[in-house]
Amino acid sequence: MVKSEWDRVKVRLKDEVGDAAYRSWLRPITLHGISDDAVRLALPTRFMRDWVNTHYAERIRTLWGAENPAIRNVEIVVEAARAAAVKAVAELAAPRSAAEPAANVTPLAAKSAPPCAPAPVNGNAENDELGAQLDPRFTFKNFVVGKPNEFAWAAARRVAEADQVSFNPLFLYGGVGLGKTHLMHAIAHHIRERNPERSVLYLSAEKFMYRFIRALRGQDTMSFKEQFRSVDVLMIDDVQFIAGKDATQEEFFHTFNALVDQSRQIVISADKSPSDLEGIEERLRSRMACGLVADIHATTYELRLGILQSKAEQMGVIVPEKVMEFLAHKIISNVRELEGALNRVVAHSQLVGRAITLETTQEVLQDLLRASDRRITIEEIQKKVAEHFTIKLAEMSSARRSRQVARPRQIAMYLAKQLTSRSLPEIGRKFGGRDHTTVMHAVKKVEELKEADQNFAEDVELLRRMLQG
Ligand code: ADP
Ligand code: MG
Repeated sequence: MVKSEWDRVKVRLKDEVGDAAYRSWLRPITLHGISDDAVRLALPTRFMRDWVNTHYAERIRTLWGAENPAIRNVEIVVEAARAAAVKAVAELAAPRSAAEPAANVTPLAAKSAPPCAPAPVNGNAENDELGAQLDPRFTFKNFVVGKPNEFAWAAARRVAEADQVSFNPLFLYGGVGLGKTHLMHAIAHHIRERNPERSVLYLSAEKFMYRFIRALRGQDTMSFKEQFRSVDVLMIDDVQFIAGKDATQEEFFHTFNALVDQSRQIVISADKSPSDLEGIEERLRSRMACGLVADIHATTYELRLGILQSKAEQMGVIVPEKVMEFLAHKIISNVRELEGALNRVVAHSQLVGRAITLETTQEVLQDLLRASDRRITIEEIQKKVAEHFTIKLAEMSSARRSRQVARPRQIAMYLAKQLTSRSLPEIGRKFGGRDHTTVMHAVKKVEELKEADQNFAEDVELLRRMLQG
């Protein structure tokens, strides 16, 4: 079949010319027809036809000949009627760097510029693009999976790999800096790589609103609707942004329904679950909740350590295990800050030309560490732990040693060590003037119990999360 021959030729071409050139010049080609020993391909503008003729026609002919020896000629024609449609699709699918060939440039002038040159940067470039740029680092490969995010990760993979819509929408939610945007970009990268024909549109809810308002002002809502309703995969990041923005919500609701009706995949992220989103209309909330809702929890120590190891490896730097453990203990707010801390430590060591040590790390991150100390106090920890185990707060400092109060007290000491930067003697003093060796013993004991007893470990983790949240 000619169509499948063409598909195979395109795959080979893409391998040869690379993604950007492919997207700019070859994907817009449509198969126009076939006669005897010639295939006819169509492009939307003369400029594109000329470009493809001089740069790729010969190669296409050779590749096609290999697929089907009967084909000896490749003819490329201009088919203007398709121009608008192709342009729209190209805009939707292409990232900003794969500049759409500019039809208004003369062939001569354009020839000197490589087809994959980045789009000229002007004030409007960002705004004129329908979608947002994808961060090339935000791939599945670079995403470290752990307990807090494995469900969201699995759901994202599923959406990225499925040819058919499995759940619609996929709704990802979680606190800031925990990897929502990373996962969304990863889905987009994966789909574009595997199946460049599918148009994937990623943008923030803010940008969606901006585009919508512009369309309203320009009285151009028809083409706005068309653009958004013709994509295969629509991803809207940080949907909480449109809380209270009724007109945008209404439009989004209709876009959403139109896409679901056509079995197109939708992925949404927010900082809260659909039912907790305030200022979002009930009908939209319930629509967003009817696919798969996956949350990303606060990081655990293990995940933070894993992320640090992976980032250090990516940066190609050697960071002592002790330093990574220290960072994983201290920078608990979110992954973005954790990354930032690691970057600072690495940058500092490269700048002064000295190896990374625990001392320099503490020095470089002084301000950050102090800030994280301010967040959680030993008193807060004692209070939370006492509440959790329903014992009196006074037991935290009492001399009683019965297991019923001693264990919670040990947990509180352990958390104090983990979540604050107080020294062992300081912690001891806050627990009824105990010795630092008592605190050390408590920390060790809790670590052992966490290892041995899954329930216990979860309990401690829960407390930690409550304190951090
Ligand atoms: P959110 O959108 O939830 O606010 P982001 O996706 O922007 O968070 O993540 C913040 C930073 O943390 C990004 O640089 C991202 O690559 C990184 N990050 C988050 N989670 C992970 C993870 N599990 N593995 C690797 N990097 C991560
Ligand atoms: Mg984000």
